Formats: sequence, C-alpha cells, structure tokens
Amino acid sequence: MALEQTLVLVKPDGLVKSLTGNILSRLSETKLVIIASKVVRVSEHLAKQHYKHLSDKPFFDELVKYIMGDVHKTHRVLALVYQGEDAIAKVRDIVGDTNPEKANPVSIRGAYGRITTTGVFENVVHASSSTEDAEQEIKLWFKPEEVVGDIYPTRTVVREKVSEKDWA
Ligand code: UDP
Ligand code: MG
Repeated sequence: MALEQTLVLVKPDGLVKSLTGNILSRLSETKLVIIASKVVRVSEHLAKQHYKHLSDKPFFDELVKYIMGDVHKTHRVLALVYQGEDAIAKVRDIVGDTNPEKANPVSIRGAYGRITTTGVFENVVHASSSTEDAEQEIKLWFKPEEVVGDIYPTRTVVREKVSEKDWA
C-alpha cells in the first residue's frame, strides 16, 4: 500500500449533464482526501498536453475539442486531486473502463458515458492511470500553491515585472 495522489477531471459532458454531485458522492466512497480543486477553462495547449499520448490517433482533434468544451459549449472542466492509500486504483475502479460500453454498468463511465457518432468516448470523467501519469498530470493542471500539502519537490522562482490580473 502506498500513499498516492491522482488527478480527477469532471469533463464537459459531466458538467453539462449536472453529474458533478453524483460523481463526487461516488468518489467519496473511497474515503480519499481532496487536496486540490478548481474549475478550469481548458486552453488548446493544455488539452493537447493532457492527451499528448494520443496525438497520433485519428480521434485526437475531436478529443481536444471535447476536453476544451467546444463540443458541449461550456468551456469548463472541474479538476481535483485526491490523495490516499492506493488512490489511483481506487478511483479508476469507481470510474470504470475507458470505453463506456465495456465499463461496468455501475461504474461512473458505465452509467453515464456514451460513444459519439464521431467515435469519441464521452466518458464523463478522467482519472490518472499510474503514479507517473498522476505526477505529470497534477503538475500540468495545478501550481504547487494550489495543492494542500507538499506532494512533489518545489523550487522558488523569483520573477520580475510579472503582471497579473487582480480584482479592481
Ligand atoms: N478515447 C477515445 N477513444 C479511444 C481511446 C480513448 O475516445 O479509443 C478518449 C476517451 O475520452 C478517453 C481519453 O481519450 O478517456 C483518454 O484515453 P486513455 O487511453 O488515456 O483512457 P483513460 O485513461 O481516460 O481511461
Ligand atoms: Mg489515460
């Protein structure tokens, strides 16, 4: 047993179908702890980075449009980091198989996913599938200060003349 972190995304179809509460309830069965969460407007760069392992697939362009929210006209994804013993397998178990038609019907994807006419699996949630993937994905979606706890080594970067938006 190992203490692990895993990235969970409620994809645009999950948000549009109002499944967030349902999904979080199902995931709370794991007794894992949420250590980060935010709503993200997914840029094309983030989408392509997140799915770079699939960049040679025929459905890649559709997949990028899907995770960016173009398909569901919402442009929001809910991103969370769960932490606990065997977090990756526990979450993947409840999330279910990638293909919603093959997924256990009581899993989240089995219950709520579908295959579109373009062939993309609209499977409602993302969950990291290995510790290596989880680390890469969490670092892609979150900054260190957005995560509660020191999960990976950090460094201090001094930036000069950085402008950022603030409340007026
Ligand atoms: N996907 C798809 N068709 C496939 C394989 C993947 O539409 O044949 C989509 C699906 O939305 C999936 C995502 O691409 O969740 C990422 O694929 P991956 O193989 O990493 O599956 P996951 O880790 O999400 O189960
Ligand atoms: Mg994957």
